[in-house]
Amino acid sequence: MGNEPLKTVIIGSGPAGYTAAIYAARANLNPVLYTGKEPGGQLMITTDVENFPGYPEGIMGPQMMEDLKNQAARFGTEIKYELIDRVDFSGEVKKIFTEGGEEVSAHSVIISTGASAKWLGLESEQRLNNNGVSACAVCDGFFYRGKEVAIVGAGDSACEEALYLSNLCPTVHMLVRRDEMRASKIMQDRVAKQENIKVYWNTETEEILGDTEVTGVRVRNNVTDEVSDIPIAGFFVAIGHTPNTKIFEGVLDMEETGYLRHRPNTTHTNVEGVFVSGDAADHVYRQAITAAGTGCMAALDAERYLGEQGII
Ligand code: NDP
Repeated sequence: MGNEPLKTVIIGSGPAGYTAAIYAARANLNPVLYTGKEPGGQLMITTDVENFPGYPEGIMGPQMMEDLKNQAARFGTEIKYELIDRVDFSGEVKKIFTEGGEEVSAHSVIISTGASAKWLGLESEQRLNNNGVSACAVCDGFFYRGKEVAIVGAGDSACEEALYLSNLCPTVHMLVRRDEMRASKIMQDRVAKQENIKVYWNTETEEILGDTEVTGVRVRNNVTDEVSDIPIAGFFVAIGHTPNTKIFEGVLDMEETGYLRHRPNTTHTNVEGVFVSGDAADHVYRQAITAAGTGCMAALDAERYLGEQGII
């Protein structure tokens, strides 16, 4: 029995992975979940989560992940604190390999490896993360209502988040490194029309100011070399995300940007028996609740697949 393939392996431990685990465990699929290097995922670096239904008082991100993990474990999910660094999906039985060199085989695999926000790479940005620095306006904007904020980036995300913040904050200082934006015309127009978004062209972030919390940002105009400080309480980084899908390159269909492709309205990837949920396949919604929703879908899809294959 020991070498029999598992029914389901889940890779990743954010809301998508744990929700998939809860559903898979309750369907008697005896899932084994590999957490990866950052157990709990992006919510572990979030403070209050106030938009996840069911928590009227809000909940701290790490606590929510602990709760989800315990809920998955309660129904028998085996949780392994290891990183998967290679997969082989060429056969009917899928193989995955841990960083430690262990080979695991399974009839179905649910991918929930998530995405990571890109950061500027400044020391001050790391130091003040969660103390005024955030990569998610929808998550954290509310804490800065009535205060001045800055946002860096010029894509659709940055525009969308700047517009979101402009409904909460007196001024949104938007830092754009070139003399034009990458965002779609319609988003640029919306930003241009919003009076309290002040766009700084050709502007780069030198340093985020503050000892224990953000008090300002030092910017440099890369044409004139002029340096100036803008007093702010919140600094939002919106320069894109990177899906954690490198190990699937050449194995699964993905967008140029690395987001995994799936059949519309399902979690099926192009490989039978391999399913994807959460931010690894979603660059649009990227919320804990939507990740959890697709995690549920992936477990239901896996269960149906295993039934069709006569495995369960
Ligand atoms: P993008 O890659 O489209 O844009 C990233 C932006 O960040 C660019 O303007 C880039 O500048 C800037 N940037 C990158 N690195 C730095 C840096 N070090 N310093 C300053 N600026 C930097 O990412 P998005 O997250 O905005 O969008 C990802 C995808 O999702 C896109 O396809 C987008 O269209 C889509 N999307 C769609 C939405 C919608 O339709 N409502 C909403 C959100 C996203 P530069 O231009 O100079 O390279």
